[in-house]
Amino acid sequence: MAADDGLRSVAEAQSLVHRESAPRPARAVSLAEALGCTLAEAVAADRDSPPFDKALVDGYAVRSEDLAGERRTLKLGEVIVAGKVATRPVGPGEAAGIMTGAPLPSGADAVVMFEATEVDGDRVTVRGAPPQPGQNVLHRGREMRAGEVVLASGTVLNAPAIGLLASVGRTRPVVVPRLRVAIVPTGDELVEPDQVPGPGQIRNSNAALLRALAVESGADVTVHPISRDEPGPLRAILAGALAASDVLLVTGGVSVGTRDLVPPTLAELGVRTVFHKVRLKPGKPLLFGVGPGSGASPGPLVFGLPGNPVSGLVGFLLFVRPALACLAGRPWADPIGGPYPLATRFRHRGDRPTYHPARRVTLGGSPVVEPLDWAGSPDLRTVARADGFALFPAGDRDYHPGDAVEFLPLR
Ligand code: AMP
Ligand code: MG
Repeated sequence: MAADDGLRSVAEAQSLVHRESAPRPARAVSLAEALGCTLAEAVAADRDSPPFDKALVDGYAVRSEDLAGERRTLKLGEVIVAGKVATRPVGPGEAAGIMTGAPLPSGADAVVMFEATEVDGDRVTVRGAPPQPGQNVLHRGREMRAGEVVLASGTVLNAPAIGLLASVGRTRPVVVPRLRVAIVPTGDELVEPDQVPGPGQIRNSNAALLRALAVESGADVTVHPISRDEPGPLRAILAGALAASDVLLVTGGVSVGTRDLVPPTLAELGVRTVFHKVRLKPGKPLLFGVGPGSGASPGPLVFGLPGNPVSGLVGFLLFVRPALACLAGRPWADPIGGPYPLATRFRHRGDRPTYHPARRVTLGGSPVVEPLDWAGSPDLRTVARADGFALFPAGDRDYHPGDAVEFLPLR
């Protein structure tokens, strides 16, 4: 399609968002805060692990050479529990009781588990095959050596990585901290979801929807109260949200209606508009800008999402989610997948690329895309049983089963 309508293409708009999505400044945080964050430093082991040759089972520390021939019975010495060290070596013909996690005494090179022994007074008899050197022992440094890098910079910290940080004593890792996302719903017609709408009113579903999407992306979310379509209240709420967020999501009021006050109000508050309006359906009026920074902290990214829930959702998936990944120190990922074959016929009419609710189903062992019957951008119910959107390029066309379509997944 010729770009003579003054709108940005989705690809152009994405590259403009990408350009503004540098990772947020890193800082040291607690392990409790670090889950899901991107590590911004390499972390090395501070000591060998295990720090000593360690028993892996409860049993007897022995010298394997003692039991290599006919001999099966050894003389019992002390018992070494976890957290204690042996007071003397294990000599020839001797064994020491040892508990899981305790350091192997010098002289011994294997552990025979209790279940394979019989004890009679101060004698222990080993049943079954003679122990091999190193049996049931984890050698010093087997897991990691002091100085060895165990987590590379750029690692997204999952639960095992958090445990590993604790085990090397790195209790304040330097990470890109969890992003702060502010959500500002706007519209005179809106009431909160726990209210019964009066004449002409509808419930604010966008704030809950966008909160869920932002939480899925790992952000800390603040939802602001509904702003009326009045310059004063809108300005006050937007100013507060801009000051305390990395990303501001405003919904509604970004179009060209007489009550669409969001673009001029953002401009008054120092937000630099990067683009306004994208060639796509649903969601054309989308606005993207960058708020004023303060001191060393960069300005928040601002997305003005159209009020219809599905428009805002598509805008989030195409622009906000990849931006959140980048701000959090992860790579920009193209959200589009596929192509997949269409499962059914589909009639597309329109001069804008259209994201149509659809689900992937398996047909003969491979995924195909089934577009759903959809009433348009206010219809969230259909999207709730979809798993994404089939992408139909601009232009009138009748599609047939098996035709290839790209797919924008919900997750
Ligand atoms: P707007 O972008 O403000 O012109 O709104 C477009 C449509 O989306 C209108 O029908 C609004 O009532 C609806 N809408 C706006 N904000 C919300 C919201 N927070 N939740 C649900 N629908 C909304
Ligand atoms: Mg509105």
